[in-house]
Amino acid sequence: MKVAPDLSALLMDIAARESELIGLTQELVRIPTVNPPGDAYEACACALGERLRRRGFAVEYIRALGAPGDSASHPRMNVVARREGRHDGPCVHFNSHIDVVEAGSGWAFDPFGAELRDGRIYGRGTCDMKGGLAASVVACEALLDWAGDDWPGAIEISGTVDEESGGFSGVGYLAKRGHFSQPRVDHVIIPEPLGVDRICLGHRGVWWAEVETRGRIAHGSMPFLGDSAILHMSAFLRRIEDELMPRLAQRRTAEPVEPPGARVSTLNVNSVHGGQVEQRYALNANGEPSGDLPTPVVAHRCTAVLDRRFIAEEQLEDVKREIIDMLDELQRTRPGFDYGVREIMSFVPSATPREAPVVQATARAISRVLGREPSYIASPGTYDQKHIVRTGGLRDCIAYGPGILDLAHQPDEYVAVDDLVQSAQVMALAAWRLLNAD
Ligand SMILES: [Zn+2]
Repeated sequence: MKVAPDLSALLMDIAARESELIGLTQELVRIPTVNPPGDAYEACACALGERLRRRGFAVEYIRALGAPGDSASHPRMNVVARREGRHDGPCVHFNSHIDVVEAGSGWAFDPFGAELRDGRIYGRGTCDMKGGLAASVVACEALLDWAGDDWPGAIEISGTVDEESGGFSGVGYLAKRGHFSQPRVDHVIIPEPLGVDRICLGHRGVWWAEVETRGRIAHGSMPFLGDSAILHMSAFLRRIEDELMPRLAQRRTAEPVEPPGARVSTLNVNSVHGGQVEQRYALNANGEPSGDLPTPVVAHRCTAVLDRRFIAEEQLEDVKREIIDMLDELQRTRPGFDYGVREIMSFVPSATPREAPVVQATARAISRVLGREPSYIASPGTYDQKHIVRTGGLRDCIAYGPGILDLAHQPDEYVAVDDLVQSAQVMALAAWRLLNAD
């Protein structure tokens, strides 16, 4: 007779590791892996890798040589740790990004101090997502101690770079090399800060493009002799705001995107640059202009970077066509209007089915640990799941982790210690069920 494993003992053991969980989160947050430019990646990858090596994991450091952002001063260093069970079985992989965005201003706490106060750890990356990374590590360590030697399959934990800038030198790089494909990996949980009782199934699609308008340079005192690319861009942006945005706001998705404001199509004008490069001029103490002064010219070139997020009900080709059509119409109707479009990147929406094993196992674990049913959500923005699904061809992937999504990238970002513990319990239970195909 097979004795049912005592899962309560596992959960209690994880609760008893609270201070270890706090310590690991603090250790990771104190390594300032700011992206851009990609500082201290190697130090962070090594802190994670060496800890797991001591726990019997086989550890591989994989630098994305020559990939975007990689340089001698800022090596794009990823770490993948794997521990095999005694028997054949599936592989459960926890993937976290180790990069964080810049601290910015407005902090009451040291952004890289990881101060613990009133049950919360404050600092850049506590929530997004070193807290989630720490929870997955402690969950797996506790699981291994509890399970002993006799368990099937394999557990992998990875720390990857550059998620905040598209993940091309992190998960994207590894996915191209088979790290996120069967038979190596079967199930993936990404501990992004979605909340302890929410399972994120996927994300909206994205199309980034740079639109350029062209004009004719002339002396700024006689603008009528030239043709301003900035005014052409302004005509385009006016139509974006007056015509396209209201239309996008009408397009509602059936997917459970959170926050609900993102359950429509959206567009953000990420940046606009026109005319001369930015000058650094100022007035000196005598009120006289100093520094680099502008010279009078009509702008012959203007660019705008568009960030178009689209819903599962839309097709990428239609998303592009809609904007090109607007530009073509301006070209027909506005004298002198000339444009170009350069695509930067695109990802189609992804959604893991609710019947997928990783969804089912995590849902059961949430109801066991928290005593309530999970909610299912989709993310307004993409994250590394896009590479795992598209390049790795692996559909069994979700994001699940501690922290409040709205706090990500904000000043005084924090993660609650209770959330760390509960999410670690959920991750351990979910992994156990997936390993045993239970
Ligand atoms: Zn993140």
